[in-house]
Amino acid sequence: MKAVQVLEPGKINIIERDMPTLERETDVIVKTKAAGICGSDIHIYHGTNAVATYPRVIGHEAVGEVYQVGEAVTNVKVGDRVILEPIEYCGECYACRLGRPNVCEKLKVRGVHSDGGFQEYFIAQSDKLHILGSDIEFTDAVMIEPFSIGAQVCFRGQIAKGEVVLIYGAGPTGLAVLENAKHIGATCIVLDMNENRLAYAKTFGADYTFNPSKVDIKAEVEALTGGMLANVVVDAVGSTKVMADAVYLTSVAGRIVSMGFLDQKAEISMLEVTKKEISIVGSRLQTYQFEKCIEYFKHNEVHLTDLITHKFHFEDVKEAVALIENEPEKVGKIILTF
Ligand code: MN
Repeated sequence: MKAVQVLEPGKINIIERDMPTLERETDVIVKTKAAGICGSDIHIYHGTNAVATYPRVIGHEAVGEVYQVGEAVTNVKVGDRVILEPIEYCGECYACRLGRPNVCEKLKVRGVHSDGGFQEYFIAQSDKLHILGSDIEFTDAVMIEPFSIGAQVCFRGQIAKGEVVLIYGAGPTGLAVLENAKHIGATCIVLDMNENRLAYAKTFGADYTFNPSKVDIKAEVEALTGGMLANVVVDAVGSTKVMADAVYLTSVAGRIVSMGFLDQKAEISMLEVTKKEISIVGSRLQTYQFEKCIEYFKHNEVHLTDLITHKFHFEDVKEAVALIENEPEKVGKIILTF
């Protein structure tokens, strides 16, 4: 069978490799149908993902059809349409015992630390597969994983109905946060320097959108909230400046959610954090969000699929990567088909 492998930074190839075989009785082999190219896949290709190891079959947004199941598998059967939950964890460390295995001490992310979904067949532990049902197109189902990242942000920021959420960044992650927060019933203000992205945010249900290079965000948020400010500020950009500014835009008893993945230092006012009792939390990957997210997709309540702009056969992955590198403004989301 064929696979997309990043041999080392800068080298991406279609390789021939053996079919996976069942190793444990809880293993499942899935015939891949579609997979999404994520920013993090491109980072692995560019050598700018600090935690990735090489050579690597990339791809963590993968869906397909169950091809073969181990003897002890009961939750899926041959022919089921499934999505991969792309994390593996020990189940024993502090985080796992606390119900937060996405930050397991021994965490492995498929397509990053172990081989992922950009191959014609992939192996998975049965409990890392979730059934899609028949209503969701495979190509749309690829967006469930990015959507789940937004669900995790809502969990970590404890976003509740009626609260005001300020989201920095209207890329795929910011928009996923927006959609999840709207499902909860929050009022959402979305910021981005790119007017196209703000237009997307509007169609995805943003209550207010602003370009921070054009208006005074503090004044706008104050005016919209009667001086309360935002109950939750989400940094879906990963910017030290956003983190520094966020404490001045967060209400008393508010939360700030960081998604930055670079080892850079933000200067944050201790006074603002203490006097308002602000909680600053990180949000990484997701835990236990897939089933809920699949329900939203089943009921057609998701716009995130509107971001899909291109579909390529996986053997044309180099063309897809070139498009992302050379004409990023044209690319929303690229889906590889198998
Ligand atoms: Mn992703």
